[in-house]
Parts: sequence; C-alpha cells; structure tokens
Amino acid sequence: MNLNKCPKCDTAVAKVNAEPVEIVFSRTDRYRGFSYACPNCYSVLSIEMNPLTLKDDILTEIQELRQVTQEVDPETVVENPQE
Ligand SMILES: [Zn+2]
Repeated sequence: MNLNKCPKCDTAVAKVNAEPVEIVFSRTDRYRGFSYACPNCYSVLSIEMNPLTLKDDILTEIQELRQVTQEVDPETVVENPQE
C-alpha cells in the first residue's frame, strides 16, 4: 500500500488542495479547520483543526465560560490587580 496515492483515484499525491471548513462537535462546540483534497479527483483525504486559529477558538470558549460562571456566581469574579 502506497500512502502517497489517493485511495479513490490511485493517483500519486505530491500536493493537496486545502480548503477552510467548520468542524462542528455540538451546537456550541465549533472550530475552524482545513480539509485536504486530492487535486485530481477532489476526494477529501483528511480534515484537521486549523492550528493557526485553534488557540483563538479555545481562548474565545474560555472567555465565554468565564462570563457564564460570573453571571451564575459573582463570588468567582477575580479582582482586577490594577485597581
Ligand atoms: Zn484522487
């Protein structure tokens, strides 16, 4: 088995076409990702999270969780050290 061949059209794959995709785990769990397709038959060979935007997506999710926590329990609000 040659791992550098497309499993659908059997063409040697030296490069892939990358396209942005949204990866949806649930209604609120969404991440930006890339799909990698065969340049000959356009079959999707792989999909992965976008490493460049993953940090921003996680940070946004943490900030949203902190807002929810603060709305539920004001005691958890961290004092601003500059005040
Ligand atoms: Zn192909």
